[in-house]
Amino acid sequence: PPGVALKTDIVVIGGGQAGLSAAYHLKRAGLEGRTGFVLLDAASAPGGAWQFRWPTLTLSTVNRIHDLPGLPFSDVVAPGETHVQARVAVPRYFAAYERTFDLPVLRPVRVTLVTRHGGRFKVETDRGDFSARGLINATGTWETPYIPTYPGMERFRGQQLHTRDYHSAQAFAGRHVVVVGGGISALQLLDEVSQVTTTTWVTRRPPVFREGPFDAQAGHAAVALVEDRVRRGLPPASVVSVTGLPVTPAVDAMRARGVLRARPMFSDIVEDGVRWADGTRLHADVILWCTGFRSSLDHLAPLMLREPDAAGGIVMTGRLATQVAKDPRVHLVGYGPSASTIGANRAGRAAVSELLATLRAG
Ligand code: FAD
Repeated sequence: PPGVALKTDIVVIGGGQAGLSAAYHLKRAGLEGRTGFVLLDAASAPGGAWQFRWPTLTLSTVNRIHDLPGLPFSDVVAPGETHVQARVAVPRYFAAYERTFDLPVLRPVRVTLVTRHGGRFKVETDRGDFSARGLINATGTWETPYIPTYPGMERFRGQQLHTRDYHSAQAFAGRHVVVVGGGISALQLLDEVSQVTTTTWVTRRPPVFREGPFDAQAGHAAVALVEDRVRRGLPPASVVSVTGLPVTPAVDAMRARGVLRARPMFSDIVEDGVRWADGTRLHADVILWCTGFRSSLDHLAPLMLREPDAAGGIVMTGRLATQVAKDPRVHLVGYGPSASTIGANRAGRAAVSELLATLRAG
């Protein structure tokens, strides 16, 4: 009913890999029924951000989807199904997961604002309020695409779009496409688009390709660097910025096609293209911004978790850096070092054990 908040111990916000992992561990810890915990997910169906990925991203082109705890991916999606779209396979897996463990997922429920209220949290949503003692936030990044600002953007008469809006390269046939960005998404979309039309690749820093394999050791080193940043309260960096781009057969083929020559960032945008500081112009019909995402945390703004300095990061603590130093009753999973399917998994477990210990003590 309006005005009455549903009381629960813990609210998990977000139903992607990170939220589901946390929910699994809450259930294992014995939190039962809606008075124990609820998971609120804004999406209308299971799958987290995976249900929105572009159609050409298949199980053979994703980096890797790690198993959630307790139910192997291969129990739901056969290992041979590599041609299946990620946006179909992962939601199928997550739906089976929610059913198997009977997780208390409520959707579609969007959390709009979280405030402190008499020693508890008031969690406002588009479907009524919840009152909780602890929070596990797992809202990912998909809903917060980042596009840097360049002079003249509003003048451009062509089409500008972000990775998030990309569906198929065919839409660009016959048009010159400037692909901006030095991450894995930029590389994957450049690969697809350059097979149907002409492209120019533009990156802020010269792209660095990884020498040697991306093995477990390299993964740990990359995660440790991102973890160190968030423990110091700096905004998280993308993992690629610390590992370099993987050299795959697709990358070799792009190099052979001559599409991998990256140009430095342009300085401004004109009506029909882009312009560099030395005055050189390039005609463009499309600017595809593969410039990444930021953590979707706006609903937590009233909690004032960010540092007041210009960088505006959040000081993180705890075993896997999921706990907010300013308020230990708040955990962020899938943030910083845990922004991967494997990281989100481990973070869910650590967050649950630390949050329950904090709530028991307090
Ligand atoms: P998400 O999957 O984004 O889930 C967040 C959920 O929270 C969504 O369901 C959303 O609806 C919900 N939500 C958001 N805001 C609210 C709100 N206010 N109220 C309620 N619910 C809300 N990682 C890998 O390990 N392997 C890969 O191959 C890989 N490929 C990637 C490809 C792309 C293009 C991108 C962008 C990322 C990729 N990643 C990959 C990283 C990936 O995002 C993470 O691994 C992981 O899927 C993120 O899970 P999550 O649970 O943190 O977030």
